[in-house]
Amino acid sequence: MSHPFLDLAPLTAERFASIEQRVAALLHTDADVLVMQGEALLPLEGCIRSAARPGSTALNVVTGPYGQTFGGWLRDCGATVVDLEVPYDTAASAGLVAKALADHPETGLVSLVHAEAATGNTNPVAEIGPLVREHGALLMVDAVASVAAEPLLTDAWGVDLCVVGAQKAMGGPAGVSAVSVSDRAWERIRANPQAPRRSYLSLLDWKERWIDTGRTVLPHAPAQLEMLALEACIDRIEADGLDTVVARHRAASAATRAGVRAMNEQGDEGLRPYVGEDREAAPAATTLRAPASADARALVTTALAAIDSDGARPLPLAAGGGALAREMLRVNHYGPDASLSTVLRCLDGLAASLKASGLPADAGAATTAAETAWAVSAG
Ligand SMILES: *Cc1c(COP(=O)(O)O)cnc(C)c1O
Repeated sequence: MSHPFLDLAPLTAERFASIEQRVAALLHTDADVLVMQGEALLPLEGCIRSAARPGSTALNVVTGPYGQTFGGWLRDCGATVVDLEVPYDTAASAGLVAKALADHPETGLVSLVHAEAATGNTNPVAEIGPLVREHGALLMVDAVASVAAEPLLTDAWGVDLCVVGAQKAMGGPAGVSAVSVSDRAWERIRANPQAPRRSYLSLLDWKERWIDTGRTVLPHAPAQLEMLALEACIDRIEADGLDTVVARHRAASAATRAGVRAMNEQGDEGLRPYVGEDREAAPAATTLRAPASADARALVTTALAAIDSDGARPLPLAAGGGALAREMLRVNHYGPDASLSTVLRCLDGLAASLKASGLPADAGAATTAAETAWAVSAG
């Protein structure tokens, strides 16, 4: 029996390399780009274990759960970690980073999440990057939730290690990811005796066996289905235009935030954007704060039941993760869900859910405000 996923022709080295080149274009980088054969946690951990060494100092900017994870890996590598934590409903700033670097001049590595889907904030990498470069430290950025949702200018911003995954705004597979590595980053990784070698986490293995030999022979059998899916999603982004895809995400964020605010105009018993400042809100996903009297998980369940998805994509609503499950809702309007129709259906579902809990919600006002915000944002 034949099947579209089975008995595939081998993926050639040439095709693998061409996918890497096209990812580099999405990242606006001339640095080496490696497509890694695993979910984005693979290059994220690989970067930290490659760049951090015992006795070094790392500044870890924490704006959500991923920053917390990075801090654990950095400590595990023997680095002295300075955590710069800001409230998760805000973002880091260049001023805070500049102060931390001045207080800890020995800092050799800065880890920073660009956008956090889990908390819904986005950090000003454009402003932080040049400061880190001037200081002489390496900058690692987790751009999984920002690539294709907002501008990502890896080289212009001075990002040395930029990690992306395809599963958010790119609308692609979760099983492969990519990292760009600057020349300065390679130098420091090569000089780190503790950097993983002959390991699944190793960036150096790929550098030596793949990049430095002209990308002609793949070191291992590639994750073929995921590579094909990544290629297809890049095809689609290129066809739509990266700027258009980015603009759709920005409009989805603006429309969701405006809709929620209008829904709740009469009082404070309703939903509110979790991240208060628009400029600190991630375009990929909007987080909302549930009213004190309601549980976010129950609101999501009722909202999903209120809107008939008619066999189409389910609404991209979820409660927050971990400790935020009770107070936070997420509207994950990324990829194909960065559309006005999905945003409007999410707002309808949320309004119905609030009303079912006896809370005020103006669905009509939400729709009007979201449509207007979408139109203004999309120009
Ligand atoms: C989504 C995301 C990832 C990848 O995590 P998954 O839960 O596997 O999708 C990594 N970093 C950040 C900042 C993210 O938002």
